[in-house]
Amino acid sequence: MGTRIANGLSVDVEEWFQVGAFEKVIAPAEWDGLESRVERNVLAILDMFAAAGVKGTFFTLGWVAARHPALVRRIAEAGHEIASHGWAHDRVFTLDPARFAADLARARDALEQAGGQAVTGYRAPSFSIDARTPWAHAVLAEQGYAYSSSVAPIVHDHYGWREAPRFAFRPLADAALLEIPVTTAEVAGRRMAAGGGGFFRLFPYALSAWAIRQVNADGRPAAFYFHPWEIDPDQPRRTDAPLRSRLRHYTNLSVMAGKLDRLVRDFAWDRMDAIAAREAARLDADARAGAGADAPSHGRIAA
Ligand SMILES: [Zn+2]
Repeated sequence: MGTRIANGLSVDVEEWFQVGAFEKVIAPAEWDGLESRVERNVLAILDMFAAAGVKGTFFTLGWVAARHPALVRRIAEAGHEIASHGWAHDRVFTLDPARFAADLARARDALEQAGGQAVTGYRAPSFSIDARTPWAHAVLAEQGYAYSSSVAPIVHDHYGWREAPRFAFRPLADAALLEIPVTTAEVAGRRMAAGGGGFFRLFPYALSAWAIRQVNADGRPAAFYFHPWEIDPDQPRRTDAPLRSRLRHYTNLSVMAGKLDRLVRDFAWDRMDAIAAREAARLDADARAGAGADAPSHGRIAA
């Protein structure tokens, strides 16, 4: 099985404690005292990708790169893309333009020093570029980013930007910066995030495979993501987080690696920078053909 369209494969590289589920019970000041699991988990992912012969993008926190530079170098040397997930997982809508710019610069510096390759891609923590951050894409363009994959074009209890297009678009009229939203599925008129993470881990494999095939049937690449902690059933267990958060964080950790191994073999995958380059060429061709202006999935949105 499988398809000829290469889909975007990405890993958001962060520790098990750097997630929204624990933000109310674990303060950033405690992070350095907690057990680090990111190295062993990322090494397992590198083995999985190598065995399947696939390349992907590792959106890595600057905080992680500063503490594990050899790991970042190893990811890069295996042929994967090192991209930015910001410094310490501050969601973009909690920052202002100046603080966002500083966060980006600090993370990029750590990532480029560790990885030895230019960083041209960005993923906002928790897909936190939305209607509240109309300045965010402009800051990314100013810093020379080629693409962002930071928008969830849905409504979700933690995130979402309902009005955003489902597929790659140029959010700025005066810059080439591309935004590649996380993959969504449309079921009974409702749009849901179907690009990985909890959706992939909590629901049956067939549902994610169906969503990717639907996107590919439209001739578009899917944008899929997961986290290193999602393949780690032995991570420390916190009992002090809200029940809803614990259910989401801990369910199906033991089956995730097997599901991922199947996914990376069932579909064709590529780095997000390669997906971005192909989608940019497609948008340019559509614009030349005059077809882009009134196609809703290609339309620009007000910045
Ligand atoms: Zn993250």
